[in-house]
Order: sequence, then C-alpha cells, then structure tokens
Amino acid sequence: MFIDTHAHLTFPEFNDDLPQVIQRAKEAKLEAIVNIALDEEAIKQSLKISEQYPSYVFMAAGCHPHEAKDWTIEYETLLRQLAQDKKIVALGEMGLDYHYNLSPKEQQQEVFRQSLRLAQELDLPAIIHSREASRDTMLIIHEENKGNLKGVLHCFGSEMVLAKEALDLGLMISFTGTVTFKKAQPVRDVVREIPLESLMIETDCPFLAPQAFRGQRNEPAYVVEVAKQIAEVKDLTLEEVAETTTQNAKDFFNI
Ligand SMILES: [Zn+2]
Ligand SMILES: [Zn+2]
Repeated sequence: MFIDTHAHLTFPEFNDDLPQVIQRAKEAKLEAIVNIALDEEAIKQSLKISEQYPSYVFMAAGCHPHEAKDWTIEYETLLRQLAQDKKIVALGEMGLDYHYNLSPKEQQQEVFRQSLRLAQELDLPAIIHSREASRDTMLIIHEENKGNLKGVLHCFGSEMVLAKEALDLGLMISFTGTVTFKKAQPVRDVVREIPLESLMIETDCPFLAPQAFRGQRNEPAYVVEVAKQIAEVKDLTLEEVAETTTQNAKDFFNI
C-alpha cells in the first residue's frame, strides 16, 4: 500500500474525471491521499471531496508562499476552525519560494513564521515548501521551532547538507516524481543517504509527472513510480519502501 502525501485535487486539471482518478489510485494500491488546499475556494471543494471519499482523501490547508501577500486574519481564523473541527491533518503548504517571488520576500517570511507558530499551537504537522530559499527556510525553522515542531520538507530537490540539517531537526523529507527524472542524479544521491524512516512519497499532482509519464498530467496513482525509484536507489524491495513510507505517513499525519 502507498500514500500520496501531497496532491492538489482541486486544480482544474481534475475537473472532468476525479472519480476515475480516485479509482485508478485505489487500483494502484493507494491507501490514502492527502489533498492540499490553499485558499478558501479550494478548502470548500476539498471538504466536499473528503466527504465523498471518507478516510481516503484527507485534507491539509495553508497559505502557499505565492499567496503570502493575500494572507488575512480571516483566513487564519478559518484554518483554526478547520483544525478545531478536525477537518485538516496538517497545515500547509507553507514556506518560501524565491524562484517566482510572486509575493514579496518579507511577506513570504512573515507568513511562513506565522504558519509555523500556528502549526505548533494547533499541534498539527507542517508541510514546508522551499524553492531556491534553503538558507532562509532553515533559519526560520530554527528560530520558530519551540521544540514541538513536526514538519516535512516537501518536493525535496536540494543537496545533502540541507537534508542533514533537516534530519537533525527531526523533520521528514518527501520526494516527488522529480527523483525519476534523468538529470536528477544529485537528488537520488540524497535518497540513498536518507534513512527510509525519515522519508515520505508524494506526487504534487497535477504537476511533476514522473519520467514514465513525462509531459502528461500527474495523478496520485503515479506515486508508485516514486516508490519504485527509491527502492532501486536504496536497493530495497518495492514492498519494503511501500510499507515503511506508508507507516511514516500515517504516523506523521496521525491518520
Ligand atoms: Zn510545493
Ligand atoms: Zn504542492
């Protein structure tokens, strides 16, 4: 069994065939999907999907660094309410994206800090997005960690030194289909070094389809490709990778 720990099922790419997408996920032996909702509208839609597929599609919600400029107190209140009602299994994704800088850096940093504080206050794990911002990401995590921070660096694409630092902080590291890309040898080198117990798998669909499906829409069923690649790199069986990463995800999200 597998768990796709990071999907965006409310994106328009899934408008026409979500039931089939979920069906294929089940056929591919996925046990659960964590759907990431990043604004009020996506949260509404995601709640409906979770009602349709109870104990199968779980929800995480937060403020992506792209949208940091739109963070409001009302949105924070909504996140608190969702946590209270036990509708979300994690806060996020949150973090820093200096590749696109769709929100000013200072605002990204401030919202990331607030999100990390909120995650700890609500006792929820944090899903962290970091692109071309490794130094600031780790600095802010160090400063905001009150000692009970539970987090994952999602869609990991950085070097070993950052992975080591994250592991020292007790963070999990999650990989997408990018580990299967031909040019991704540096990322595969990191996979080899990281203990399986600190590792999770995800698709980040509809983006980042693995090599075998490159150019197509990505979907949760393809998370198996990520697991296969990890098994190959770490010289383990697919079953071992499936079993341990699934258990890791269950423990992390408390599902
Ligand atoms: Zn992300
Ligand atoms: Zn994402």
